[in-house]
Amino acid sequence: MSYTYRRTYRGPIEAVILDWAGTTLDFGCVAPAVVFVEVFQRQGVAIDMAEARGPMGAGKREHIATIAALDPVQARWRAAHGRAPGEADIDAMYADFIPLQLQCLSQYSDLIPGTLEAAAEMRRRGIRLGSTSGYDRAMMAVNAADAKRQGFEVDAIFCSTDVKRGRPFPFMALQNVIALGVGHVEACVKVDDTVPGIEEGLNAGMWTVGFSISGNEVGLSHAAWCATAPAEQARLRARAAAKLLQSGAHYVVDSIAELVPCLDDIQARLARGEKP
Ligand SMILES: [Mg+2]
Repeated sequence: MSYTYRRTYRGPIEAVILDWAGTTLDFGCVAPAVVFVEVFQRQGVAIDMAEARGPMGAGKREHIATIAALDPVQARWRAAHGRAPGEADIDAMYADFIPLQLQCLSQYSDLIPGTLEAAAEMRRRGIRLGSTSGYDRAMMAVNAADAKRQGFEVDAIFCSTDVKRGRPFPFMALQNVIALGVGHVEACVKVDDTVPGIEEGLNAGMWTVGFSISGNEVGLSHAAWCATAPAEQARLRARAAAKLLQSGAHYVVDSIAELVPCLDDIQARLARGEKP
């Protein structure tokens, strides 16, 4: 009989890498969605909220290109312009997107309930806090300043514009590993409200936690969510959770208010020698 022996990490969680919109602030991930609708409107092409939200998590230029490639959007674009949208159109819409997004970010930068408590508990455990975003540096500077005013700060921020490829590629998450001086990728947890954000963590070799109700998949502000009838809340939660679980997320919970119990479970699994 022969055996092979596998080396396993059994230490503590070293870092949690958080997404921003829909994860730590901007309940419902409302800020980018309204701007995507506006930049297409400026080209004479109507898109609905579902189309605007579809690629959420990707870098913003890529997000615009993905919307423009949808068959119904292509048809509407042809009706308005007599041709398909090209790279120059994507560039023009991205050029519109940047100032519009910067202008309205602070209207949607309230911390998601539970963020401060989760951050404090992670700090107490000695966990470093990293972050990634599909926003660019200037947009993240606005969000980070608004978050700091509310008492929330992370140790590292990487944007899709800082790396060769944004989500679902793992580069932003792995830049956090380097910047935070983390020794073990399997000791990291990537937390996000979108499928590309979960895939980013999985591609990096990390544990992943998805948030169903606070993010893009439900797409309602905190006030709108609270005003939604319980039966409809249950339907929206189930639909969002199913989508995130299908993407391979290790855990899906409502919001950051329920993150710490997931970390407890991951910690127990690490201690047993499990890998993500
Ligand atoms: Mg997000």
